[in-house]
Amino acid sequence: MNEDTASKSPKALILFGPPGSGKGTQAKLLREARQVPHISTGDMLRERIAMGDPLGRQVQGLMQSGRLVPDEVANRLVDERIARPDCAGGFILDGYPRTIPQAEVLGRRLAERGFETVVIHLKVDYTVIIKRIAGRRQCPVCGTLYSLTSNPPKKADVCDLDGAGLVIREDDQEDVIRERLEAYDRQTRPLIEFFAGAGHALKEVDAGLDGPDAILQRISGLLGNR
Ligand code: AMP
Repeated sequence: MNEDTASKSPKALILFGPPGSGKGTQAKLLREARQVPHISTGDMLRERIAMGDPLGRQVQGLMQSGRLVPDEVANRLVDERIARPDCAGGFILDGYPRTIPQAEVLGRRLAERGFETVVIHLKVDYTVIIKRIAGRRQCPVCGTLYSLTSNPPKKADVCDLDGAGLVIREDDQEDVIRERLEAYDRQTRPLIEFFAGAGHALKEVDAGLDGPDAILQRISGLLGNR
């Protein structure tokens, strides 16, 4: 029996990696495969902006320029979400934690609630990322992501699911992508050492050139059956 099949604690799976490394795509595939909630702070924040509530108005400018929102905002969203009953059997975090203070708060919460933490680090070269994000399109209605190269819509620029015209996310514009990669280097990349120091299982996956299904298989192999 290996360490994964031996553990009975529910898993908090942290998908970690730079913007454009495929965290969102893998999180959605893993949600289907493992039947646990997918928690994306980026999606939650975009929803709040679309609703136009005070929190949405507070974070809009930061997100549009590619900078991180304050730790307290991200921490509060995740804290409330993982306390809900559907997370009791485990969940997938996508885009959180992104700073050391966030990782410290999360680490305390997960320990209090008895979760085992597993970090999956999706490794991709920045040249591949810039190309990949530049070809990314999103449905403004249902949020589905498309890639002009690896996962194009059936009809150009139109969502397969609801027929809405696809758009380029504002923070996927090239200058903003560079700012997001810089924020990753400065604030998020140091978490790799933090996770290792905190004793979390840290698994690296080459997520550069293969398609989403091959990468999912690689992750599933590392996680075992549970
Ligand atoms: P994402 O969709 O995960 O790439 O997130 C898009 C944007 O939302 C980021 O560039 C940040 O401005 C903001 N954001 C998402 N998650 C966090 C987080 N954990 N901490 C701070 N800002 C975040």
